Amino acid sequence: MGVSDDIMEVSPENEFRVCPSCGYEYGFHVSFLRDEGKYRIILICPQCGARYYTGWNVG
Ligand SMILES: [Zn+2]
Repeated sequence: MGVSDDIMEVSPENEFRVCPSCGYEYGFHVSFLRDEGKYRIILICPQCGARYYTGWNVG
């Protein structure tokens, strides 16, 4: 089940730092997407704007 059409789901291992879309390698901005009483942690590439969901949630 997808989070959103433009959010790619990823399964990070030790570290998720390099953007798979553009290769930017200095990490991500973070946003929080409300979803039924919790928040999904959404990572946004500062260079290309691609959005990723790692399965991490808060709240
Ligand atoms: Zn990128």
